[in-house]
Amino acid sequence: MIGFNVAPFTGKEFDYIREAVEAEHICGDGMFTKRCNQWIEEHTGTAKALLTTSCTHATEMAALLLDIHPGDEVIMPSYTFVSTANAFVLRGAVPVFVDIRPDTMNLDETLIEAAVTARTKAIVPVHYAGVSCEMDKILETAGKYGLAVVEDAAQGVCSFYKGKALGTMGDYGCFSFHETKNFSMGEGGALLIRDSEHVEDAEILREKGTNRSKFFRGQVDKYSWVNQGSSYLPSDMNAAYLWAQLELADVITADRMKSWNAYYEQLLPLKEQERIELPCVPEGCEHNAHMFYLKARDLEERTALITYLKREGVQTVFHYVPLHSSQAGESLGRFAGEDRCTTKESERLVRLPMYYGLKEEETSYVVEKIKEFYEK
Ligand SMILES: *Cc1c(COP(=O)(O)O)cnc(C)c1O
Repeated sequence: MIGFNVAPFTGKEFDYIREAVEAEHICGDGMFTKRCNQWIEEHTGTAKALLTTSCTHATEMAALLLDIHPGDEVIMPSYTFVSTANAFVLRGAVPVFVDIRPDTMNLDETLIEAAVTARTKAIVPVHYAGVSCEMDKILETAGKYGLAVVEDAAQGVCSFYKGKALGTMGDYGCFSFHETKNFSMGEGGALLIRDSEHVEDAEILREKGTNRSKFFRGQVDKYSWVNQGSSYLPSDMNAAYLWAQLELADVITADRMKSWNAYYEQLLPLKEQERIELPCVPEGCEHNAHMFYLKARDLEERTALITYLKREGVQTVFHYVPLHSSQAGESLGRFAGEDRCTTKESERLVRLPMYYGLKEEETSYVVEKIKEFYEK
């Protein structure tokens, strides 16, 4: 059986966890957390990166830092993970769903402006499959209406848009280090802060509303309660686990890219025969091979393909029931404009096995079985 995902593991994880334990600092913000934060800052160019307990929590922090209030509207795609919406729903905001582009499955940047109202506070582009949204246009629209931008870059660690790292262009960027992502600490994430004037507020929010971060830097001699806050910092043991992977990020990305390219090249004939569609990476976008998907003709064909591959020992999955058609989405959000692509395109999409260490003969086997399916 070729599984859909195998969590990344480099072999150094246990050594680093042992080091964290032996350093007698296993709570938050120990040496491994610092190394991870610094690595993210150096590799993305963001003013500040803070490791968090999840991407969900990083997005919740962004919503709190932006002072999102009940009744505020936040523009996002419906084709995304629930956390994109929940982070804002928890503050009483209304997610306003805008249709996606069929080529990248990302927010259609040309439809955002029509969804802006007097209540709109932010735009949340989701970089699906680690392929960037059209950020120039999104930032222009945000600038025109004075809106904040929070990038859901959960899948976009080590991806770029016109040379800029995903997660660094909006006011805030959110990374995920969940075990299904390219780099993992089990559960975890990071908040990227573009403007240094917001760093102190973020540190306070993350550290239970205290100025403990300042205290550790020796900037105050006692730490105390200074604002609202929660506990969004992970244990240094988790950061140690992540460090083993960030250290080898280039190796992990290159390995995934090899599988991605193998899929693409070998499936190209089927695309040329117009039997399937393959992912599109627009010019100026450099992706991280987070995901490989293909699109079948319709829902029926996709179901048949998934069943066929499962019988042949290949586990494939589909993604996201669009949020606007989910139970919570129906009552908590609304769709602005027409759903031309969100439902139709999401029903056709199948994700193929993709992980660090996937073997060449495995990608070839998957392709062979897909070709067999389409020959029948
Ligand atoms: C994985 C994912 C999340 C959530 O990440 P967690 O770290 O599990 O909270 C949010 N948004 C998108 C688009 C994701 O893929």
